Amino acid sequence: MSDQPETPVGAAEVARFRERHGLDGPGGLIDVHTHFMPERVLAKVWEYFDAAGPLTGMAWPITYREEEGQRLDRLREFGVRAFTSMLYPHKAGMAEWLNGWAADFARRTPGCLHTSTFFPEPGVDRYVREAVEAGTRVFKAHVQVGAYDPNDELLEPVWGLLAEAGVPVVMHCGSGPAPGKHTGPEPVARLLARHPRLPVIVAHMGMPEYTDFLDLAERYGEVRLDTTMAFTDFTEGFSPFPRAELSRLAALGDRILLGTDFPNIPYPYVHQLEALERLGLGSAWLRAVCHGNGARLFGLDGTP
Ligand SMILES: [Zn+2]
Repeated sequence: MSDQPETPVGAAEVARFRERHGLDGPGGLIDVHTHFMPERVLAKVWEYFDAAGPLTGMAWPITYREEEGQRLDRLREFGVRAFTSMLYPHKAGMAEWLNGWAADFARRTPGCLHTSTFFPEPGVDRYVREAVEAGTRVFKAHVQVGAYDPNDELLEPVWGLLAEAGVPVVMHCGSGPAPGKHTGPEPVARLLARHPRLPVIVAHMGMPEYTDFLDLAERYGEVRLDTTMAFTDFTEGFSPFPRAELSRLAALGDRILLGTDFPNIPYPYVHQLEALERLGLGSAWLRAVCHGNGARLFGLDGTP
């Protein structure tokens, strides 16, 4: 598959990025949006991306199609000190099983922030409460793949619980790269109107509805955005970030978090970092986005 299997894909370039911006200390990078899931589920996800080329005319070669251990080595080589295991169900009856796997993965994987997920189904309030009690640091909600309304009444106690516990939820709620029945800013705006303290991390900067999700972040102090795939050459090709909004990115610099979608990315990891760098918002902004904001949110500084 690879022309150069012996050398880490881009580790030296990532190290140079960290040196350029004072991110080469022990704190390293904090990546809130990485995918680890049971092998069979991940194989399905990769099948989906393999098929995406013929379906959409947009080839999506997975750069880091490797065994789990190798993928974890990559993150260590990149200097990623904390990361997540984003996983998500596409139907009822799956989330609790995924959460069991993720709890075990977090236990056996240094640096992994214990990640859980949910789906609007009977019992969801019980297993989300159990997941919080078991030490979940972050949840993933995939509104597009799950094809559910975040305002589904089955989820109402879940949002209340997460707001109260202050456990953030990374939500794929924008309509990119593919729209879903319930994607877009309106359902999230309705949700936040009822739960203004809910710590939502809007995945992918909310692409392509960047402006509407920045509006929500300005309005609600617990709304954050992750950078996953935004600003890259790949994404700029079909969903460019509006240049006029750059100053708002600067102003919200304490609520933007590095996310990448590793390993399911069609370019080397460093490209996401360089895509942030070329926004021209400076080293202090990059240090906040790539380390400081995540460290504060997850209480990581001062821990080994
Ligand atoms: Zn993702």
